Amino acid sequence: MPLPGPAAANPLQCNTCGVVLSSTSNLKRHFMTHTGERPFRCQVCGVTYTQSNNLKRHYMFTHGGHGGQQSTAAASTACQASNLGTLGP
Ligand SMILES: [Zn+2]
Ligand SMILES: [Zn+2]
Repeated sequence: MPLPGPAAANPLQCNTCGVVLSSTSNLKRHFMTHTGERPFRCQVCGVTYTQSNNLKRHYMFTHGGHGGQQSTAAASTACQASNLGTLGP
């Protein structure tokens, strides 16, 4: 497939603002600042971030702890158990 212009010579260069990143993962992450994509979401208050480090920092400062995925799994298990308990007459 044809490449659009000489700017595409560097695969690590952002084709939106022209900045050159040190790796493809950095370029991917950088490009999210242009698309507005924020894949990292706080499970407590729902705020979204473009970088996992920012979300981690938000969680530590705002909610004072680490991720709550384990407690969520435990809660669903307890819910199933209580549902089974209420089935009997
Ligand atoms: Zn850019
Ligand atoms: Zn939060």
